[in-house]
Amino acid sequence: MPEGTAQAIIPDNALQFRNDTHRKTDPVPTQTSLWRAFTPVGATYDPLSGDAETDVTILGAGFTGLSTALHLAKAGTTVTVLEAEDVGYGASGRNNGQVIPVLTRADPDALCARFGEAGERFVKLIGSSAAYLFDLVREHGLNCEAEQNGWIQPAHTPGRFKAISENRFRQWEKHGAEVELIDKSELDRRIGTNFFFGGFGNRTGGHINPLALTRELARAAVENGAVIHEKSPALSYGQEGDGWRVTTPDGTIRSRALVVATNAYTGELAPGLAPRLARSVMPVTSWQLATAPLSDNVRSTVVPDRQAISDTHGDLHFFRYDARNRLITGGALAMPFNGHQRIRARIAKRLQRIFPQYVEPEIEYSWTGYVGATRDHTPHFHRLGPNGWTWIGCNGRGVALSVTLGGELAKAVMGAEEQDLAFPLTEIEPLPMHKFLRLTSRPFTLSLYRYRDWREMG
Ligand SMILES: Cc1cc2nc3c(=O)[nH]c(=O)nc-3n(C[C@H](O)[C@H](O)[C@H](O)COP(=O)(O)OP(=O)(O)OC[C@H]3O[C@@H](n4cnc5c(N)ncnc54)[C@H](O)[C@@H]3O)c2cc1C
Repeated sequence: MPEGTAQAIIPDNALQFRNDTHRKTDPVPTQTSLWRAFTPVGATYDPLSGDAETDVTILGAGFTGLSTALHLAKAGTTVTVLEAEDVGYGASGRNNGQVIPVLTRADPDALCARFGEAGERFVKLIGSSAAYLFDLVREHGLNCEAEQNGWIQPAHTPGRFKAISENRFRQWEKHGAEVELIDKSELDRRIGTNFFFGGFGNRTGGHINPLALTRELARAAVENGAVIHEKSPALSYGQEGDGWRVTTPDGTIRSRALVVATNAYTGELAPGLAPRLARSVMPVTSWQLATAPLSDNVRSTVVPDRQAISDTHGDLHFFRYDARNRLITGGALAMPFNGHQRIRARIAKRLQRIFPQYVEPEIEYSWTGYVGATRDHTPHFHRLGPNGWTWIGCNGRGVALSVTLGGELAKAVMGAEEQDLAFPLTEIEPLPMHKFLRLTSRPFTLSLYRYRDWREMG
């Protein structure tokens, strides 16, 4: 454990359920997530009622909204966060908690070629995002089971290892990131399997309990003067005079600036809020699973140094330990029917294939969340009007990114020039036939990924 890293081992008997807010808008009816079962209950915040004014209104209490609120509140700005459900209801409270300072596909050369100087600044932000998150955790004493032990991307074929060595590794090294290329024998030792063919590592990565981090960001933001309202879905927003007006079921709030931080959940809880923005991403269901705690014996060979691992498969293979020594893993299903049972069986088999020494993995928790997928596999940043900002589409790599973007969005709200912001602005582009594609495209894309994964093995 690196010096100063926040680490809180929560005893296994600390089962504390807040009202189970997984509700019928969930992609599939879920069971309680591991994070909801074991994370200490946070504060609750009253709904917005009546007319209010603030300097900055933020919609959504996930990493993006709360990190932005924390940065603004620290700078002395009056800021109010409206959350439709409760803090961490969206992806931030449900994810795998891997702190990864690279995007899924787009590497530095592609981002710089596409976005020019803004791309260069964005690359710098991505590359520093894991360190940024862990520094924020240390600075504010955020109690979130943080372990900065590094992140590793193992290659599932020799061809992928070659591609990583020649592209991803070389490009990030050129940009000064703390990356390493790991040969097969060293990787076999680090992960505890001969399933992979070498890998790419970043020493600044690691993992956190995401729901704990979300609740702790809320605590820190409020301690610095931010106001949060839960159970306050923004139904609509619009420009009024020089500023913005947001309506909820029981109130309105006026402000100079607006940050829409609803990400992949934009169209889920108040469909009329920002329909064009909602149609610019595809919310894709990701299944998360937690095993029973591993025995000391097995743990001494399975990822003994506790890094976060996510590999090169299109049908991603990923896992990390939590503070109670469970493996937190997951996967994808083409169709959700009988999902909990099918995904548990599928991933137990996968774990056994990767780790033959881990006999009969037992899955104890399964839950789901929406990942916001964009057509170009790259996050999108938009100006909604004067002093109105949003971003959307993490493509599964948004833990470090969204926390770091909080600092950048705060800068934007406080009046930074566009050429000083570390994200490239584009126009909102709704996807054609969004509703139809949402219903039909998953089986095809996943089958395509699996076919490619299989073909590359040959
Ligand atoms: C299952 C899963 C696993 C993942 N694993 C990883 C990982 O290991 N590593 C990684 O880097 N990334 C991962 N991600 C991505 C990462 O979780 C997200 O990118 C990140 O949490 C996005 O944070 P956010 O604050 O922008 O959005 P969210 O956390 O989704 O927050 C949006 C919030 O807006 C609220 N909201 C929606 N509509 C309204 C409204 N009308 N009014 C008010 N509030 C509203 C929602 O309730 C929600 O709380 C994963 C995502 C999922 C779903």
